[in-house]
Amino acid sequence: MNDSDLIYDCIIIGGGPGGLQAAIHLGRYNRQVLLLDRGGGSTNSAASIENFLTRDLITGRQIIALGMEQALRFGTRLEKKRVERLAQTDGIFVVHAGKDSFRARFVLASSGVTLHFPRIKNLHRFFGRGFYTCVDCDGYHTTGKKLLIAGNSLATIRLAYGMKQIFTPDISILISDQQLPEEYLELAEEENFRLYHGIPEELLGEERLNGLRLADGRVLACEAIMADFGFRFNDDYLAELPLERDSLGNILVNAHGESSVPHLYVVGSLRPGNPQVIIAAGQGATAAIDINRQLLAI
Ligand SMILES: Cc1cc2nc3c(=O)[nH]c(=O)nc-3n(C[C@H](O)[C@H](O)[C@H](O)COP(=O)(O)OP(=O)(O)OC[C@H]3O[C@@H](n4cnc5c(N)ncnc54)[C@H](O)[C@@H]3O)c2cc1C
Repeated sequence: MNDSDLIYDCIIIGGGPGGLQAAIHLGRYNRQVLLLDRGGGSTNSAASIENFLTRDLITGRQIIALGMEQALRFGTRLEKKRVERLAQTDGIFVVHAGKDSFRARFVLASSGVTLHFPRIKNLHRFFGRGFYTCVDCDGYHTTGKKLLIAGNSLATIRLAYGMKQIFTPDISILISDQQLPEEYLELAEEENFRLYHGIPEELLGEERLNGLRLADGRVLACEAIMADFGFRFNDDYLAELPLERDSLGNILVNAHGESSVPHLYVVGSLRPGNPQVIIAAGQGATAAIDINRQLLAI
């Protein structure tokens, strides 16, 4: 498919909360919007979201499904495609997805990140129900519990230090492939963290999580796990563009979400800040309002 004559007002890459909120706002300015999404994504994998205004509990999948319906109602065209390349010629963006290419005056990148996980048996059974990956999202569920914090970096110790102050004093730490500097070992001892080295292999329990078996056979008892194994940005398609980034690879943007490449906006987990549904959605709205303002001036 090649919309060779059509130049969209905006192509949105990624249909998470950031991209969907932008589509809804732009649709309500009667703008021509194409949303390209490959499916999946962080929000889609969130089993229960309890910190979104007006929702006591909603699944990530529901947020995405409802958001897609809402965006379609306001005229967004949706294509299930993986974007592979974004280029810019004479001020117009060309978005390549498989054999197809699409053109737009503005692009909003909202493709998020992919979390890294070690291969752990029974992960699916406890994902979001005892096994958590985000302290801002699910730290609350660990309140008063026997908690194991698993990771492979020094950030894991810092995470434990913070979680002890607000959620639970009963904390073990599992480091999988890192020798800790002396000061971190001292901190762990001072804070009464039980510190283990090993490779996680199997989550234990039927209805409820009750432990983690390591590859060497040891069992660490726990009622909740906060895992911190890092992530990668879903941004390979941006490789050709001279984007300014911070030292961690986050794409730098101005207050409206516009990157150092004019007319390319970035929202959600690709940029610095806190990865949360409500924040990504707010950034999507902010970017869409500014894109519309810039379109009015063209
Ligand atoms: C397990 C889990 C639980 C969470 N719980 C909560 C919670 O309780 N509360 C909360 O506020 N936040 C929660 N979050 C965080 C929240 O999901 C993220 O902050 C939010 O998803 C960021 O939104 P986004 O729009 O940047 O990305 P995403 O929601 O990840 O959406 C990105 C979309 O882009 C698509 N995509 C990626 N690459 C491409 C490509 N090349 N071409 C086309 N499409 C592409 C993806 O498939 C996906 O559909 C949780 C995250 C996880 C992983």
